[in-house]
Amino acid sequence: MSVYPEARFLTSAHEPSQFVADAGAEVAFAGRSNAGKSSAINKIVNRRNFARTCKSPGRTQLVNFFSLGDDRRLVDLPGYGYARVAQSMRVHWRRLMEEYFRSRESLAGTFLIVDSRRMLGEFDWMMLAWCESIDCPVHVLLTKADKLKKRAADQALSAVRRELADAATVQLFSATRGTGLDAARERLDALLVGGKP
Ligand code: GDP
Repeated sequence: MSVYPEARFLTSAHEPSQFVADAGAEVAFAGRSNAGKSSAINKIVNRRNFARTCKSPGRTQLVNFFSLGDDRRLVDLPGYGYARVAQSMRVHWRRLMEEYFRSRESLAGTFLIVDSRRMLGEFDWMMLAWCESIDCPVHVLLTKADKLKKRAADQALSAVRRELADAATVQLFSATRGTGLDAARERLDALLVGGKP
């Protein structure tokens, strides 16, 4: 199983003009702030501080590009749902995200990071709608599964599966325990070689 030994940070983009060249294949990671996106990326890539788990609201406005080698990339999209950010930052965030989803030919799939205890929110549905509009497959990681008892975690998984129907694939994940790690890496690899499930 590859753990992406060539993984490295490429650049942070504040504007679409700063996006890296649109070649090869990339998978975007999106999620509400605090859903566990950085922890999931670090676990999947097997590096402790690859994506930063501690951020200021300012940093959440950046699109972070990482190379996984061979023209394959992981893209850490700015988290959403920060209650305290100014309206101008929300507008900037929305423009940046819309432009990202509209323009990236190399976007092969999106990992949507959702806290297993919270279920899907308004922003998750917005993300799903953007992805659907460009025919981009979505894989939902229900994170922090270790915080739920097995029965509750299974119920959360079934409930989200029902809600999503064919809109996305979904799995349980825990960065702390490694639950679902192999499945997440397999899905990431499959998307990066261009396959649908
Ligand atoms: P992000 O804002 O979506 O990037 O979220 P972070 O990865 O920074 O995680 C937010 C908080 O949730 C941090 O305090 C993490 O330690 C915690 N967290 C993330 N993943 C897990 C997990 O799998 N299990 C548990 N118990 N806590 C987690």
